[in-house]
Amino acid sequence: MRYPKLRELKEAVKALFTGPYTTKFPSVPHEPFERFRGKPEFHPDTCIGCTACAQVCPVGAIEFRDEVTEGLARRVLIVRWDLCICCGQCQANCPPEKGIVLSREFDLATTEDPKALRQEIEKELLLCDCCGEVIAPRDQIAWVSRRLGPLCFANASLMLFYLNNLGLAPQEEGAPQGEKKEPLRADRITVLCPHCRREAVLKS
Ligand code: SF4
Ligand code: SF4
Repeated sequence: MRYPKLRELKEAVKALFTGPYTTKFPSVPHEPFERFRGKPEFHPDTCIGCTACAQVCPVGAIEFRDEVTEGLARRVLIVRWDLCICCGQCQANCPPEKGIVLSREFDLATTEDPKALRQEIEKELLLCDCCGEVIAPRDQIAWVSRRLGPLCFANASLMLFYLNNLGLAPQEEGAPQGEKKEPLRADRITVLCPHCRREAVLKS
């Protein structure tokens, strides 16, 4: 017969006085500890729409799609809580750090369609002034230009955003849908996709 070790006996006696370690959830609401990793939530004011979170998510719980229709160019970002495993990779790899943050909410059990467990946000897209191709979300370009500072003068598109941040240039509008044009020399100081910028430089 094997006898319990002294350490185990001590724990058993202690448990008689301290009560059970487990919580009474769900009959009593459970308050998770400070750094608990619960469901991730987008913060639209700080998210720049770069999609880094979608690329690092190991289970594909973050999706995005670009929608360019007449008068509307937007990137839709979706986080699906029914797939999420709360690993925290999206938050850890978010360039502005607070674009997506894991909350402490964990009780997601539902009898509804699990696909309804999601959050969607939208980011306005910046289009090439000449061909109308998607360049990136406007917030992402503005964020990069703020980070680079005066180094933005190496790229006319970033430079315009940098000057706009300083209040020295008007807000760039991008090309209206359906109005495509050949990039000319005069277009070099406008917002262009890499292809049109190369064309404009070669023609100058
Ligand atoms: S916490 Fe992990 S699984 Fe959930 S969305 Fe973020 S990266 Fe994906
Ligand atoms: S800013 Fe952060 S949350 Fe927003 S798309 Fe990029 S990585 Fe995801």
